[in-house]
Amino acid sequence: MSELSGIYLHIPFCATRCHYCNFATGGYESDIARRYVAALIEEIGRTRFEEPSMRSVDTIYLGGGTPTTLSIDQLAAILDACRKTFDVTTDAEITCEANPGSIDLDYLKDLQTAGINRLSFGVQSFDDGELQMIGRTHSSEEAREAVRLARQARFQNLSIDLIAGLPEQTMDTWQRNLDEAFALEPDHISVYMLELYKDAPLLHRVERGELRAIDEELTVEMYFALKDEAEKRGFDHYEISNWALPGSESRHNLKYWTGAPYMAYGVSAAGYDAISRWSNTRNIHEYLDKIESGQSAVMENISLDDDDKQSESIFLKLRLKGGVDLNEHRLRFGVDVRSRYREEIDRLLDAGLIEFDGDRMRISRKGLVLANEVFAEFV
Ligand code: SF4
Repeated sequence: MSELSGIYLHIPFCATRCHYCNFATGGYESDIARRYVAALIEEIGRTRFEEPSMRSVDTIYLGGGTPTTLSIDQLAAILDACRKTFDVTTDAEITCEANPGSIDLDYLKDLQTAGINRLSFGVQSFDDGELQMIGRTHSSEEAREAVRLARQARFQNLSIDLIAGLPEQTMDTWQRNLDEAFALEPDHISVYMLELYKDAPLLHRVERGELRAIDEELTVEMYFALKDEAEKRGFDHYEISNWALPGSESRHNLKYWTGAPYMAYGVSAAGYDAISRWSNTRNIHEYLDKIESGQSAVMENISLDDDDKQSESIFLKLRLKGGVDLNEHRLRFGVDVRSRYREEIDRLLDAGLIEFDGDRMRISRKGLVLANEVFAEFV
């Protein structure tokens, strides 16, 4: 194994719960947060390296939840624990997710001092009506201010998340979202096409007729409006849901799609070491009990055989602009994709969902919004 590893750290606290959220997260309570930080540090310190190269790390990602609910001292202590256990490269990309409204200039400067060099802002919308409808606690002005302050604190790598396909959303409101987002000159933009899970309060409001869901075709139009606008402005559409200025791709998230290893700590955190995939319990109390009593918090561990690895590699790489290099795949896994998946590939070509460019297989423009149908053929 030659690639350096990444580390994912889950911080499961949020000021309130957004009305569409299905992440493992809950309200912030200082006692629980204190125990949680200690447990996370303990879990990191217990790492045993089956594969010595897993010790070398060049990305760390603090996700959630809202990591910025923690104090600087708590975040710094977690990062210190990573540096004690792992060899973290000096140029490591260290990302922190942040919600506008939860940070000020001093806090941002302290994040820099703690070594965080990339921020991912959960903006979701610049329309105050939409923000209120989905239960976000910040306003559009707070989102603009957060980005301005982050630049003032000398963050050079900023990402903004948006959601397309909200109930009542129109092409006009979406276009305004795009105009506002690009006016802030982010280095990276991610879009989430809204899917409501069955207990989401937002879904209940739609079911009660209080809000009108929008057509899928309109959501698709919004996606392509973002794609076209981003590309016009020099952003590279390097992954289905992500656009970056040159050199600002998320190095951590690229590990997920290229099959690189990553460790994972905290509630619901999921890791991969090229042999197996594992994930921790989604219940914070169970997580705390397990770690505090010296047990593992892993709830699921799936060993991957060679066939799992090669099929995973295909559908993960199809997420990327470069697609699947069929020669590289044959050398790495001994599988000729064209003959092994002849029928599946014919079906996808007939439907116009994939295309070939020499020995590369890529998802087509049409396939970008039907990606799950494409992936299902290779599972
Ligand atoms: S901020 Fe993110 S993780 Fe927290 S409730 Fe909202 S969507 Fe969920």
